[in-house]
Amino acid sequence: MSPSRYGRSTLARTVSPPRRDHHGGSSPAWLLMQAAQLSWEIRNILQLINGMRLNLSEELHVYREACDMLLNAAHATAIMEARLPLAPAWGSGPPRVRSIFAQAREAGTDPAEVRPDVDLFQPRIDPQIAREVEATYREDPDPHAQCAGATVKKERCAKTIVKGIGSAHCAVHLAPAERQRRDELRAAEDRRAQTITDARDEHQVELAAAWIARYGTRPHRLEQPAAPSRSRQVAPFDGCSGLTLGEDEQAMLALYDSGWPSLCPRSAEIIRALLDCPRATIGRLAELAAAQAPERWSRGEQWLQSDIWDGIRPPDLALPRLGQAPELDEHPAVQELRRHMNASQGRYEVWQTGFKSLVEACDDPAIDTMADLLAFWQDLGILVPDGHEADATIWRLAALPPSAWRVIYARGRFVPSHVLGTALDWLLEGETPQDPDISPSEVFNVLLTSAKPPNPEGSIAPAQTAS
Ligand SMILES: [Zn+2]
Repeated sequence: MSPSRYGRSTLARTVSPPRRDHHGGSSPAWLLMQAAQLSWEIRNILQLINGMRLNLSEELHVYREACDMLLNAAHATAIMEARLPLAPAWGSGPPRVRSIFAQAREAGTDPAEVRPDVDLFQPRIDPQIAREVEATYREDPDPHAQCAGATVKKERCAKTIVKGIGSAHCAVHLAPAERQRRDELRAAEDRRAQTITDARDEHQVELAAAWIARYGTRPHRLEQPAAPSRSRQVAPFDGCSGLTLGEDEQAMLALYDSGWPSLCPRSAEIIRALLDCPRATIGRLAELAAAQAPERWSRGEQWLQSDIWDGIRPPDLALPRLGQAPELDEHPAVQELRRHMNASQGRYEVWQTGFKSLVEACDDPAIDTMADLLAFWQDLGILVPDGHEADATIWRLAALPPSAWRVIYARGRFVPSHVLGTALDWLLEGETPQDPDISPSEVFNVLLTSAKPPNPEGSIAPAQTAS
């Protein structure tokens, strides 16, 4: 056993374990410190959002304890990493955290000598404010001293003195000078407390911003937009059209029923813009869509020119190819990560191939940008004209947008049969809602007739006379 170290060091040493242990595996100490760090962040985020949508006081209570335990565990691992002297363990197997502290105490080790590399928030107090408190504060020789004042009955006052101002009296019997000093101390302490509260609030807001950056703007988004609730209130628009608000809402629901939102990439962005403004020019829609993600687009024009797969294409992670780093490949976390990446890539490729063939089967030009996608919706009659504004057409959702089945039924005979087959297979696999008027088998029959000469009419459906 090494000689005991007594005395508290005022400056604890931060222990930051390497990410990997000497066998090349991930370091448990490092991972534990990351867990403690994350736990600390979660605690602060919970404090920040408590009372906004939910009362989280019970959760906060439980979480504070859990967070403190993890911070203790990180501290214990720092003691072990720093190889501070420890008394021999009483049992075999991995010790508990409290056993490490007990072993340290038994060996005379001061646990405060080290601290884990966890970035806990320490409010920095303005030295001026700290000095104000110091200047007003007076150490009491006996903080429990009895008041020197007397009661109205001329008896000695039984209360204890006001602490921290060098007073000889209780709050009732304070001399004017003592009273002034007490008020000054209170004011200085209030200012210090306010500074700490402000700094903590600021820290929590910064943490929330870091979380949003970390989790909220992930480039890889495959989630489908949620259908609007049937009772959703649509924002009012100018009444020139003479239509009721309910019609736009109905049109939105009809769009969802048609299945187009889940067939087209990034349709959620168009839908949100239309929910904000159900009748708009393409330029206005683009501005609204761009405004939803100011960190991605600064202007509507930029949004219009953006790739339809932007944010859907899985990110390129700098992970060595399978087999390049065998010891890495064996790591369960890396295997899990590869599984996720492969699944994401697979989903993306299926969607991309399916959508491409669908567009081709609709006899439309390839779609690369959001502007192309909007043109596609206009061409199919999903978006229909609704008047003019200056030189631009105002668009709205069709009351009854044509289903993908209907479009292919009308136009599919002009495209190569293998494209048609791929598109129809994709529609079936994706469980695209069926068209009540045309069964999938009728649409598949188009395959048999697709060798026919082009039909110059090529109209989509009798129901589509909205324009
Ligand atoms: Zn008194």
